[in-house]
Amino acid sequence: MTPSKPHVVVLGGNFAGLASAQKIREYVGSSVNITLIDRKDYLLFVPNIPTDVMENRDPAKHQRLQLRAALKSDDIEFVQGIVKQVDVAQRTVDFLPFERPGAECEVLHYDYLVIAMGAHLAYDKIPGFAEHGHTVSDLFHGERLRQYLHEGGYHGGPIAIGSAHFHQGDGAEGLAPYPGGSIPYAHAACEGPIMELTTALASWLVTSGKGTPEKITVFTPEEELIAADAGENNVRHFLRLIAGMGIHYRKNMPDIARLTAAGVEFDGGETIEAELKIILPDWVAHECLRDLPIADSKGFIKTNLLMRNPDHPEIFAAGDCAAVTMPKIGGIGHQEAEIIGRQVALDLGLMDPEEANQPLQPVTFCIGDMGEGKAFYVRANTWFGGKEEVLKIGRIPYRLKMRYRDLFFLTNGKIPGFGLDIAQFAAEKIF
Ligand SMILES: Cc1cc2nc3c(=O)[nH]c(=O)nc-3n(C[C@H](O)[C@H](O)[C@H](O)COP(=O)(O)OP(=O)(O)OC[C@H]3O[C@@H](n4cnc5c(N)ncnc54)[C@H](O)[C@@H]3O)c2cc1C
Repeated sequence: MTPSKPHVVVLGGNFAGLASAQKIREYVGSSVNITLIDRKDYLLFVPNIPTDVMENRDPAKHQRLQLRAALKSDDIEFVQGIVKQVDVAQRTVDFLPFERPGAECEVLHYDYLVIAMGAHLAYDKIPGFAEHGHTVSDLFHGERLRQYLHEGGYHGGPIAIGSAHFHQGDGAEGLAPYPGGSIPYAHAACEGPIMELTTALASWLVTSGKGTPEKITVFTPEEELIAADAGENNVRHFLRLIAGMGIHYRKNMPDIARLTAAGVEFDGGETIEAELKIILPDWVAHECLRDLPIADSKGFIKTNLLMRNPDHPEIFAAGDCAAVTMPKIGGIGHQEAEIIGRQVALDLGLMDPEEANQPLQPVTFCIGDMGEGKAFYVRANTWFGGKEEVLKIGRIPYRLKMRYRDLFFLTNGKIPGFGLDIAQFAAEKIF
């Protein structure tokens, strides 16, 4: 590390943190020192865990990208540590080296801070989840569900899939990413995987001889439309599709009170009967960020559309921990990382304002596995006030989903711009 250079500290090394560190290096070259801290030394490729589960593969074998090697190639220092505290006045971060219990608390000074620590996925707030719940958001739970489905745990009973209530803070109020648009409030943090699992499980029930799609009930806390960020027309099309398969749809559900052997019990007492309960929880802000002066009413980090905190312009946030990231999807974190790279370059006089000051215009971009080699492809910005909505269903989106992961691993997460353009072209123009 060269002492005379500004020090950029990036907290979190999954999609938003890795991409932010890489984009800063891309746009400012060797003008800064960069340190990235994460408690694990791999990137977890969350979006493909559901497909591994459904196709009977242990996700731990396929969905980890080693961070140390990826960062070294860009001269980014890696620290495996757990972030304990951020002092925005002193510009310091306290962390514990995380390899062995008992380590001393260390302090890092920053000139720029990028907070990309995701969120606390609050399964611990759902009574009965440990005994009766399943999910796909990490390797442990993914492998547990894989074993349950493919090794004789599941006995062919009803299935419930849905989300606990999300409690969004006020940190994105007043932001208009498109003319007349907004960052809307949502009652669920991330419902794309729910749509994906609904169709993938429907297909699996049939191919495995375990039953028919009528066994499935998908539920949402949203008043009308699940995953409304995917665009109203797209979602209505999807709902007609699953209704045609006999899948039950329940909207406007109260929060989950508890999971039991019999099903999902909601506040107010109603129960959806289910042997298998697949749940995504509330996305809660990390405790060490929640009370910072840069956090919103629920502990998510406040930024403007250039991803800077208004009171501390040296602090950026990207990905799920940023208040402006709604829904909580990795694709938006990537768009934000690009902006952060350009903003740091602007500050260092390495990019002109016109090129650097391109505010966030979020786009929901999602490819969901539907089983039997098919997938849906969604690209939409109407929820935020834009005008575009695309939905394609077929075999090409499935291949794109798999190839995107391969390209991501091959390039250490640096998907070239043309890679995304080709994916969009292939999905939207070829068929
Ligand atoms: C099943 C499922 C499927 C999904 N599919 C898609 C999809 O198809 N497309 C899409 O765009 N999005 C998808 N998402 C959402 C996507 O996974 C998240 O939006 C994305 O992972 C957020 O990235 P992030 O880097 O902001 O946060 P995270 O991925 O949560 O990463 C945060 C990082 O910070 C580290 N960290 C946290 N706390 C600390 C601490 N105290 N100290 C040190 N390190 C810490 C963590 O170890 C982690 O590496 C899916 C989500 C789920 C659950």
